[in-house]
Amino acid sequence: MRRPLVAGNWKMNGSRASIKLLLDGLKSGVGTVKVAEVAVCAPFIYLPDVQTQLQGTVIAWGGQDLSTEASGAYTGEIAASMLNDFGCKYVIVGHSERRAYHNESDETVARKYAAARAAGLVPILCVGETLDEREQGITEAVVARQLDAVIGLEGAAALADGVLAYEPVWAIGTGKTATPEQAQDVHAFLRARVASHDAAVAEGLRILYGGSMKPGNAAELMAKTDIDGGLIGGAALKAEDFLGICTAANG
Ligand code: PEP
Repeated sequence: MRRPLVAGNWKMNGSRASIKLLLDGLKSGVGTVKVAEVAVCAPFIYLPDVQTQLQGTVIAWGGQDLSTEASGAYTGEIAASMLNDFGCKYVIVGHSERRAYHNESDETVARKYAAARAAGLVPILCVGETLDEREQGITEAVVARQLDAVIGLEGAAALADGVLAYEPVWAIGTGKTATPEQAQDVHAFLRARVASHDAAVAEGLRILYGGSMKPGNAAELMAKTDIDGGLIGGAALKAEDFLGICTAANG
C-alpha cells in the first residue's frame, strides 16, 4: 500500500506574517487528515521559520529547488546539506517553472535528483508536457525522456528514494485540471516504465498529480489507481483549501 502524499508548493509567495497564519491554520486542522502524509515546500529564506513552527508536528517541510553541487563557489545557490540543516525532508526538483525560466535541462534535473538523494533528502521529481506537446501527441515521449534522465544517471533503484510528480504544464496555475482519466493514463504509463526496470520499485513509487488540484476535484483524481496524492500550488496558500485536499485523500 502506498501512503498518499499531499505536498504544497508555495512558490515565491508569502511573508513571515502570512506563513505564520497559514501554518497556524494547518496545524489546527491537520487532525482531520487521517491517511495522507502532508508536507509544505517553502521559499528558502522562510525555512528556519517553517522549521520552528512545524517541528514536532506531523507536517513535513522541504525546499523548492537545490544546487547540483555539494558546496563551493556557486553564488546564490543552496546545497542539499543546507536543506538538511533546517530539517527538510523533501525537495522539489525539475518543476516546470525551473525548467522553463531557468533553462534546467533533463540532465541538470537528474543531477539535482542525485544531489538530494546523496544527502538523504527525498526528491520530488516533476515531469510533464506543455499544451503544444500534448496536442502533438508526444506526452508520453516527453515524460519518458524526463524520467529516463534520472534512471540513466542514478539507476531505477534510485526512484525508491524519491517521489514522482506528474504535472501537465498546461494545468499548472491555469485552473484547467487534467481529467482523472487523462492523469491516470500518464501515471500508469510512468509506473509501467519504471516497472520495466524494477517492478518492486514501481509498485512502491508514489506518483503525485499536480495542476490546479483543489478540494473540489482532489477526491476523484486521488481515487485513481496510480494517483498517490498531489503537488499543490495555488490551493496550498490557503489552509482551508490545502486541508480540504489532504482530507480528500482519506477516501
Ligand atoms: C505546481 O506549481 O506545482 C502546481 C501544481 O500549481 P497549481 O496547483 O497552482 O496548478
